[in-house]
Formats: sequence, structure tokens, C-alpha cells
Amino acid sequence: MEYQTLNNGIQMPILGYGVFQVKKEACERCVLDALKTGYRLLDTAQSYFNEEEVGSAIIKSGIPREEIFLTTKVWLEHYGYEATKQSVLNSLQKLQTNYLDLVLLHQPYGDIYGSWRALEDLYEQGKIRAIGISNFYVDRMVEFFHFTRIKPMINQMEVQIFNQQKQLKEYADKYNIQLEAWAPFGEGKKNTFENEVILSIGKKYNKTPAQVMLKWNIQRGIVVIPKSVHLERMKENFNVFDFQLSNEDMEAISQLDTSTSSFFSHRDPAMVEWFVQLIEERKQK
Ligand code: NDP
Repeated sequence: MEYQTLNNGIQMPILGYGVFQVKKEACERCVLDALKTGYRLLDTAQSYFNEEEVGSAIIKSGIPREEIFLTTKVWLEHYGYEATKQSVLNSLQKLQTNYLDLVLLHQPYGDIYGSWRALEDLYEQGKIRAIGISNFYVDRMVEFFHFTRIKPMINQMEVQIFNQQKQLKEYADKYNIQLEAWAPFGEGKKNTFENEVILSIGKKYNKTPAQVMLKWNIQRGIVVIPKSVHLERMKENFNVFDFQLSNEDMEAISQLDTSTSSFFSHRDPAMVEWFVQLIEERKQK
């Protein structure tokens, strides 16, 4: 495994396993398979509704807690100082652990500064080893950096071959914020796994499209957290440390960028309304 060193000196594996859209009933088995495969970075979130299963898989695996880099995220209805503090304590309970390696603000809306102060306090109390943000576009990330006391260590963003986040990467490097790629395959949307450029590069190294896409981000110094519910694919996605893409191949992939999300824009007012509606719906449950 290779590691990235965060701006507070903490080491983080450059490759991990994400559990978004892994169903509750499959999650414990999937995380156990991932840990058996060798993954030591796990990425969950309150809003994935599978923190309990991730926690029980960690306990069942028998792997010492300190060997695992465990991430969760705070969801919008828990924003604000007190609510965030309480919600991280709830996550700790669900995950059956007394500390978290990384906690992220999941979305860039609402009382992000109140929530951040709660994360700062929990960080200083030793309950969280690193704190960060997610889905903060470059302007929001730079703003957040300048108006916070403890600077974010991570920004977790969609980073994939069609949405390469080149400007964000430039500013993340400038401010020493580690980028972490969610949906490193773009969930296969726009046929990432069938892309001709990726396929032909893969043939040269005897590697699959998934392995090429992960390696490209790893070589850019970006942490990747692919998701799969299939053991064989977990192994495939983990097997990316025995080859190196040439500069020429890195450049060919760079040309695929369309600077457009394969999902949605967080700046789209209709999406902001959708998130607000979701907060209301979840409050009523
Ligand atoms: P990914 O880009 O990781 O794609 C996952 C999809 O690719 C699944 O359909 C999976 O299918 C398939 N797949 C996985 N490996 C292979 C392979 N080797 N060959 C072919 N197909 C494959 O998308 P995700 O959205 O899951 O992102 C990864 C992680 O990022 C999430 O689990 C989550 O932890 C995080 N995330 C964070 C977000 C945020 O807002 N902060 C938003 C979205 C994701 P199958 O499972 O059937 O194998």
C-alpha cells in the first residue's frame, strides 16, 4: 500500500473501499471481504445508513482498530455546532469505536461553519484524527480554508476521467488539502469501463479499465475509494501497485476531461432545493 501524508502529519492509505449504495444486508459481508482483500481505508457516511454493519465487520475481522483508517461523514440535518457534535458521537457508537480517523462535512450547504467548529473541538479532544469537507467546489474550498481556524485536511470530490478537477487539484495542492476521489469510475456512467483510450492503455500493461482509472488518480496523488459488492472486483481494484502509467498515457487520459460531472452540479439551484427537501423528509421520519 502507498500512503498520503495529510497536512497534520497523519498517514492515509491512497486506496480504500467505499460503501455508498451497499445495501444494509450485504454490507457486513462486503466490508469483511474488502478487509480480507487487504483494504485498510473504509469510507462510509451517516447518510449511507450502513455504519452499524461497517462497525460489526471491523470487529468480526479481528483486525486491530489502529490498522484501519475509518471515515464517516456528517449529513445535512445534523449541521450546526450541537447537532454535529451529537451526530459524531452517534456515529462512533454505531461504528463501535472510540475514535474516527476522518470525519467529513458531506455537503457544502447550511451551517457549515457551526458544524466545522464541532469537528475542530472533537479533533482537539482526540476523537477524530483528521477532519475535512466533501463536495466543496474550488471557490467554496478556498473560502472555507481562509475562514476556518483548523484547516481541512481532505476534500472528497467526484474525480474521474471525464471530470478530472484540474483547477481544484491545483488549489488543493496550493493549500495542502488532500483530494480524495469519490466515484473514481464515475459509476460506469458515460461508459467509462468501455472507453477506447482506457482500454488500449490497459492492454499495454495487461490491466483492466478499472485498474487504469484507479492508477491514473493514484499517480496524480489523489486518494481513491472504489466500491464493488463483488469479491473478484475488490481484488482487481486492489491490484494496482505493480505497474506505472507512462507520462504519455497520463497525458492521453488527461485529454478525456470534459470538466463536467457525470452526476449533477452542486451549484444547480434545483439540486440545492432537492437537498433541502431531503432534509425535511428525513426530519419527519
Ligand atoms: P464507483 O465509481 O466506485 O463505481 C461503482 C460501480 O462500479 C458499481 O456499479 C460497481 O459494481 C462497479 N465496479 C466496481 N469495480 C468494478 C470493476 N473492477 N469492473 C467493473 N465494474 C466495477 O462509484 P461510487 O459512487 O460507489 O463511489 C465510490 C465511493 O465513493 C462510494 O462507495 C462512497 O464511499 C464514495 N462516494 C462519496 C460521495 C460524496 O458525496 N462524498 C458521493 C458518491 C460516492 P458492483 O458493485 O456491482 O461490482
